[in-house]
Amino acid sequence: MKELLPLPPPPPLVHDQQATVRALFDRNVVPTYGRFDLAFSHGAGSYLWDVHGKRYLDLGGGIAVCSLGHAHPEITEALVAQSRKLVHISNLYYHEPQGRLAEALVNHLAPGKMFFANSGAEANEGLYKLARKFGHDEGRFEVLTAVNSFHGRTLGGIAATGQDKVKKGFEPIIPGFRHVPFNDLAAMRAALSPATAAILIEGIQGEIGVTPATPEYLLGLRQLCDEHRVLLFIDGVQCGHFRSGRFQSFQRILEGIPGAEGFLPDGLSMAKSLGGGFPIGAFWVRQEAHGVPLCDLLGPGTHGTTYGGTPLGCAVALKVLEIIDRDHLADNARHTGAFLRDGLDHLVQRFPGVLKNARGLGFMLAFELQNREAIPGFASSDKVASLQMVNRLHAAGLLTIPSGTQRVRLLPALNLGRAQAEEGLAIIERVLQSVR
Ligand SMILES: *Cc1c(COP(=O)(O)O)cnc(C)c1O
Repeated sequence: MKELLPLPPPPPLVHDQQATVRALFDRNVVPTYGRFDLAFSHGAGSYLWDVHGKRYLDLGGGIAVCSLGHAHPEITEALVAQSRKLVHISNLYYHEPQGRLAEALVNHLAPGKMFFANSGAEANEGLYKLARKFGHDEGRFEVLTAVNSFHGRTLGGIAATGQDKVKKGFEPIIPGFRHVPFNDLAAMRAALSPATAAILIEGIQGEIGVTPATPEYLLGLRQLCDEHRVLLFIDGVQCGHFRSGRFQSFQRILEGIPGAEGFLPDGLSMAKSLGGGFPIGAFWVRQEAHGVPLCDLLGPGTHGTTYGGTPLGCAVALKVLEIIDRDHLADNARHTGAFLRDGLDHLVQRFPGVLKNARGLGFMLAFELQNREAIPGFASSDKVASLQMVNRLHAAGLLTIPSGTQRVRLLPALNLGRAQAEEGLAIIERVLQSVR
C-alpha cells in the first residue's frame, strides 16, 4: 500500500490576522493591559501599519519612547553594526559604548555620573536607594513624591507613585514614601519630616495627563532641599530627552526665569526616549550635594543590574543622541510642538462642547475632554470619554495615548514633521466634528 503524503490543511476562507494574534495573547499572555483591538506589523517614521494594511499616523510614539519614529535607518544600522561586534558582556568588565554614552549624557546635563538600567521604574529604584544611602547614618529614609505622580510599576514604583489605583491589591506598600499635592510648595514644606531624605517629582507630570511644574515650584523645592539637607530628584523618564524642547524639562520650564541660572536637581532618571525603542534606562547623579560627593555614594557592591548599559543598548542610545543633536530635534520639538499646541488651542475655541483645554509644551501635549455625558457622540456608551475619543481617532487613522478618564496625550517622535502635525490636527478636527 502506498504511503499517503500528509497534506497541508486548506487555507481558511477568511484569514483574520488580527483575530489570530489576539487569540495568541488571550491564551498565553498575562492580561495586565487593557489593549486596543489593533495589531501592528511594521512602521516607518511616524507611520504605522496594522496587520490589515491600514496606515496610522503615530502621535503616541509608543508612549514617548520612539524618539526617532519607527524603523529609522540609522538606528537599524547602529543595531546591526554593534551586534556584529558585541551585544553583552556584563558589568564585570569595561566597554567603550557605556563609557561614551555616560560622557555624552553628563555633557548634556552637568558634572556628575551615570548608572544604566533597563527601564524607567528601575532607574527610579536606583534613586530611592541613593536617597536611603544618603540619609542612612542619620536615620533618614523617606522620599516625598507628588499626588498624581507616576514612577513605575515595581513595588518601589507603586509605593512612590501618588495614585491609589496602582497600589490597590498590592498592600502592604513599601514604607518610606508620602505624597504631597503637586506645584504646592507650602504643602511640601509642611510635609518635610526629620526622616525625609529626598523629594522626587516629575518635571512635567505625564501619566495623569500632562501638568508641568511651575518655575516657582522648581526653584522653591531647590531652596527647601538646600535648607533641609534633602536631595532633589527629578523623574525625567517621560518629560526628558528633548521632548520639552530642551534636554530636560526643568531647563525649558526655567528658561529666562531670574534666579534660575545654575538650577540643578541632585539626581535625575531617564528611560523612554533614551533608547528610541531599545529598552534602556539610566539615572544621573550630581557630582556633589550638601557637601557629600554624591556621585560616588553608591560604591562597589551597593547596586547593580545584569543588563544595565549593554554595548548594544548604549550604542543605540548614543546614535539616538547624535541624531537628535545633528538634526536639531530639540528645536523641532519646541517649534512643531508649539504649532500642535496652537492647533489644539484653536480646536478648544471651536469645539467648547467637546474640549475643555489643551495642555503641555514641546512634544508633551494633551487635550482634555468635557464629561462624557456632555458630548453628544459619547453619551450613548458608558466607556470613559478618553477611551471613546482614542477609539474614534484610531478609526480615523491616528494613534494617541489616553490619560485617565478625560485626557488624551500626544507624545510624538521628535522628528515629526510639520506636514504630519497638520495631518494629525486635521484628523482630530474631523473626529471632533463628528461627536459634537
Ligand atoms: C513610564 C514612566 C515610568 C516607568 O517607566 P518604565 O520603563 O515603564 O518602568 C516612570 N516614570 C515616569 C514619569 C514615566 O512616565
